[in-house]
Amino acid sequence: MLHDLYLDFDGVIWDTLPLLNKIIYEADAKLYYRMVNKTLTPEDEVKKRQIYKLANWELILRNSGPLNNSIDWINELHKTGMFNMASLTHCNSTNEALNKTKLIANEAPYLKVIPVMKPASKTTVVDARGAILVDDFGGNLREWKAEGGISIKFSLKEESNNGFYNITSLREIRDIMSIIKMNEELHNGSPVKTIKQNNNY
Ligand SMILES: [Mg+2]
Repeated sequence: MLHDLYLDFDGVIWDTLPLLNKIIYEADAKLYYRMVNKTLTPEDEVKKRQIYKLANWELILRNSGPLNNSIDWINELHKTGMFNMASLTHCNSTNEALNKTKLIANEAPYLKVIPVMKPASKTTVVDARGAILVDDFGGNLREWKAEGGISIKFSLKEESNNGFYNITSLREIRDIMSIIKMNEELHNGSPVKTIKQNNNY
């Protein structure tokens, strides 16, 4: 059975976040500090999107690279034949969407790129039900889970107890798949569940 696997781009496949943070800092230092302190207002979010919109994405992508050997691990995942894979990536401009698509076409040609124009939710573009999303942003993962998807949190430092499956490298996806399958079995009435029910008689 093929599993639908969606990979976020910024902060999962490609290491753009340090450069994007620098761009925000240079454009508006106060906005940058509110972003770091997680106190952005809805107006700030609009400002931030505007800055990203005007950014030169060809340059951003050229001056950043794959995160934790992501392209090698995507290659490995592709070779397993277990996944229907795409990168599901938030974009603020057609320039951003175009340059990300070009980059993936060079680096991993079998990977589809599905741009999601901000501020639309990733769940409005594809069907999340039973599909896996690997993302570094909790907000996207919460929306995904709420729509019946399987959420995997990608972070550079190990995390736990956030309500998601957790990985620090795309290498770990195959291990997580075994855990997901095991959990699904339990959920669908495994022998363990049956034994518990029989205790009532
Ligand atoms: Mg991201």
